Amino acid sequence: MSTVKERLIENLIAEDTGSQCKITIVGTGNVGMACAICILLKDLADELALIDIASDKLKGETMDLQHGSLFFSTAKIISGEDYTVSANSKLVIVTAGARQQEGESRLALVQRNVNVMKSIIPAVVHHSPDCKILIVSNPVDILTYVVWKISGLPATRVIGSGCNLDSARFRYLIGEKLGIHPTSCHAWIIGEHGDSSVPLWSGVNVAGVTLKSLDPKLGTDSDKEQWKTIHKQVVESAYEIIKLKGYTSWAIGLSATDLAGSILKNLRRVHPVSTMIKGLYGIKEEIFLSIPCILGRNGISDVVKVNLNSEEEDLFKKSANMLWNVQKDLVF
Ligand code: NAD
Repeated sequence: MSTVKERLIENLIAEDTGSQCKITIVGTGNVGMACAICILLKDLADELALIDIASDKLKGETMDLQHGSLFFSTAKIISGEDYTVSANSKLVIVTAGARQQEGESRLALVQRNVNVMKSIIPAVVHHSPDCKILIVSNPVDILTYVVWKISGLPATRVIGSGCNLDSARFRYLIGEKLGIHPTSCHAWIIGEHGDSSVPLWSGVNVAGVTLKSLDPKLGTDSDKEQWKTIHKQVVESAYEIIKLKGYTSWAIGLSATDLAGSILKNLRRVHPVSTMIKGLYGIKEEIFLSIPCILGRNGISDVVKVNLNSEEEDLFKKSANMLWNVQKDLVF
């Protein structure tokens, strides 16, 4: 007796089940699911795999997304607690682990999330030895270093989402002040994703007109318009959102998806992401911090050598020292 499928379809060739562009997200909490919906809506993957240890939540989130399949172009959405579901991913986005509670700093999460990375990364690499790994979990710069070490992958393929979000927040706030869309407000935040991040006021520009050329005091304490408060707002924004809604999700989901797009479409766009900066700006330790990086199919292929002024370089080094002081005592 033939099945309905057999009566409907005359099979001509064996189905090609291989995926061209598979993305795995590890961690299906607030951030992981925001990444998932953004990736689906942007058609970045032909296959999306989700992994979490919270099995009911994972199953529920997966079913909920699968039922939206009619409205996506991603052919396959799968999930499981076992890393076999992630096999042959081009990109693995890690959002698993503890998040900040109200008033808690990102650095306070470190040892808990190092342990989480230890339980995740060997299996990820075993099933997708050629993947790029994008770390989103916090403290993102230190965890990117830890994942680089645990994974054994080249540093070019282990990327921290870093200051891509901080810079997006910065550009939004500059845009609000000027009445110009953020895409036309060019501005960079580098260094740590978080409290010691470094705003590059010297480079802030609209259509090539640097705001510093209009007011040399811009971003300093003596600036009458107090543009400096914009950076303070960036630093405080996660704390404020966590106080208001308990967690942050949408902007980081969009930011991580933006990075995924540059990697998977080999766009070679420049993003402020966390990478190994030993040897740059006189830094001697194996530290990961954000600097502008070119992202494409091989991960980070190049970094842009930004000329920092002495104040910016001092702040960047301070950021590096602070992270090193936490990183050097880590057990993993
Ligand atoms: P959440 O608590 O909502 O979700 C975390 C998920 O990780 C949970 O579903 C949990 O079951 C899962 N998990 C825990 N241990 C795991 C393991 N060993 N294997 C697989 N899954 C595991 O938290 P969230 O709000 O989604 O935040 C996740 C992380 O992202 C936090 O570390 C947070 O600080 C970070 N974050 C980073 C940025 C950034 O800009 N880099 C922005 C926002 C949040």
